[in-house]
Amino acid sequence: MPQNPDKIQDHVELFHQPEYKQLFQNKKEFENGHDPAEVERVAEWTKSWDYREKNFAREALTVNPAKGCQPLGAMFAAVGFEGTLPFVQGSQGCVAYFRTHLTRHYKEPFSGVSSSMTEDAAVFGGLQNMIDGLANSYTLYKPKMIAVCTTCMAEVIGDDLQAFITNAKNAGSVPQDFPVPYAHTPSFVGSHITGYDNMMKGILSTLTAGKKKSTSNGKINFISGFDTYVGNLREVKRIASLFGIDYTILSDNSDYLDAPNTGEFDMYPGGTKLEDAADAINAKATVVLQAHSTPKTREYIAKEWKQDVVVSRPWGIKATDEFLVKLSELTGKPIPEELEIERGRAVDAMTDSHAWVHGKRFAIYGDPDLVYSVVGFMLELGAEPVHILVHNSNEVFEKELQALLDSSPFGKEAKIWAGKDLWHLRSLMRLLSG
Ligand code: SF4
Repeated sequence: MPQNPDKIQDHVELFHQPEYKQLFQNKKEFENGHDPAEVERVAEWTKSWDYREKNFAREALTVNPAKGCQPLGAMFAAVGFEGTLPFVQGSQGCVAYFRTHLTRHYKEPFSGVSSSMTEDAAVFGGLQNMIDGLANSYTLYKPKMIAVCTTCMAEVIGDDLQAFITNAKNAGSVPQDFPVPYAHTPSFVGSHITGYDNMMKGILSTLTAGKKKSTSNGKINFISGFDTYVGNLREVKRIASLFGIDYTILSDNSDYLDAPNTGEFDMYPGGTKLEDAADAINAKATVVLQAHSTPKTREYIAKEWKQDVVVSRPWGIKATDEFLVKLSELTGKPIPEELEIERGRAVDAMTDSHAWVHGKRFAIYGDPDLVYSVVGFMLELGAEPVHILVHNSNEVFEKELQALLDSSPFGKEAKIWAGKDLWHLRSLMRLLSG
């Protein structure tokens, strides 16, 4: 059933064309499909309290998870550094999924290689895959750094990345001084935000090793966390520039994930310069824009770099005020007048639009930091959260979110659904009034 080139249909419309309807009908008969009335009855039942109880009693099955694999987060962190190629020690299928996911989301080519482990590597270990993979990647794609993470397969058989990378360097796969940071990223624990954290710590510890100086370079480091909206990072850069702050973004993937179309393919657009990242150890302080995607990285910076590490999530008026005040404190520079005027405009827009948002009930799902920030902003607008679902939740997050909800009269009705998936959310949304 070819598309009509004069009227290309989206899949939703395409599947309603007569030939597809006929095809589905034929398929149903062939498969001994159920009576439409029975399908309708079950569909209605899935909207009931009875079904909801069964859905929430589910233990050993996840349906439509609201989280991704650890390596996905690790690759997301890696591409924010200049000329960096993510390299995944593991099976090709996993890596194809991460690449596809990121490429589709950003509509940009997302590069990442796999060591293509198959049955033999699963039995005998993946050392040879690492040796060949690093050599091929270095020769073919000419990166400045290769950031290695793992899939579940490599973790289950216990591949030791540090030993493997040392062996690969000794075998001549890459030069001895070529940076190959790594992070173990087993997806049977944590999620993409854990992988982001592991890789960020791996890259920073590799690049800054032996670079500590006796004096500070006076800069401020920013780490965005697993924030998929690159506009936020650009806004932080704009704010820092308005302040006149000398700064380094650690993992600046804004150009990589939103590259200009120049007609030329650039495999590594933008990214934090490796020498700037190496010098980040000598900065005055590090401001981290997410808490739950960065615990290990923050602990590492505080302990090893001996720097002030500040968590600040500038969403909404109050949190952005706190962010600007903190920047002013850290740098001794006044808050730029332009930002004060913008703040006034934002408050004006909130006041003008209150009739549409105030008192509106909403459900939300997402990563802990994003949910915390959006809920905080919505409470400022007078909107009322009802269901808050965070699949990759943790106790620290639940406590701080509850405290935020308790701080506002609009947060009283909210219920936090930790560790639940999007099929749970479906039940909750079906019975929002309950
Ligand atoms: S859960 Fe593990 S095996 Fe599955 S796609 Fe993610 S990394 Fe691969």
